[in-house]
Amino acid sequence: KENMARKVVLITGAASGIGEQLAYEYARRGARLSLVDIRKDNLVAVAEMAKLLGSPDVIIIGADVSDVQDSKRFVDETVDHFERLDHLVNNAGIGIPVLIEDCSDITKYTPVIDVNFWGAVHGTLHAIPHLKKSKGRIVVIASTCGWFPLPRSSFYNASKAALISFFETLRIELGWCIGITIVTPGFIKTELSLKAYENRPSLRIIPMGSAVECAKDIVKSACRGDMYVTNPSWVKVLFPFKVLYPE
Ligand code: NAD
Repeated sequence: KENMARKVVLITGAASGIGEQLAYEYARRGARLSLVDIRKDNLVAVAEMAKLLGSPDVIIIGADVSDVQDSKRFVDETVDHFERLDHLVNNAGIGIPVLIEDCSDITKYTPVIDVNFWGAVHGTLHAIPHLKKSKGRIVVIASTCGWFPLPRSSFYNASKAALISFFETLRIELGWCIGITIVTPGFIKTELSLKAYENRPSLRIIPMGSAVECAKDIVKSACRGDMYVTNPSWVKVLFPFKVLYPE
């Protein structure tokens, strides 16, 4: 089991939801943190709380993960400050619920792939040399949607399936020197999932997990070196869920 004391963890999308709780969970284990989010204001409070919970050093970086230059900058700034990187947690993500027939303007939805897929890829490519040096780990927050598609979420589902496939490939190529933990949560109560719940009675049959518990599971599994972390509650409701589709 990996001891995280003074290890350096970079978390994207750390200003809220699962990312925020991941910051606290790593902080409780004594890790030093680099917290990245497009909403830098919220990061200040998260960083303060992480320090109270036991992180010896926290930096915050405002950045858009879908921007290649930003991704290089947040990896460089982290390594310049801490002189190493042990865990890269690709967590930042967005969803824009829509039925495929209503997608007249496709450009409204390309950010879903840009942030969820390309965002994780850009950061990873910059981080690989540092993770090889530290024999570190990549934790990627995909989704159960990457395996079992959720209606009104075609681009979101595709972005998550792409993440699973990409990081499985990375495991084949780099698994000898970098650990990879692919996380596929079911519904977790956060801003993102509440948006998906809006006006969708059939989704409300799916139980929501808490971000606190989800983050605990993720960090415990990552430190154990698990390849996958998932939430089985989602699978149990798949059958009725399919029956209810479309709403
Ligand atoms: P959330 O909206 O609470 O948090 C996402 C964070 O990412 C926000 O702080 C947001 O500002 C940040 N972010 C968005 N776009 C960004 C960008 N371009 N650059 C940098 N930061 C950006 O949502 P969450 O539910 O905590 O989601 C976290 C991850 O978990 C996402 O990848 C999501 O797809 C995944 N996930 C969530 C659920 C769920 O039910 N909540 C289920 C499965 C997977």
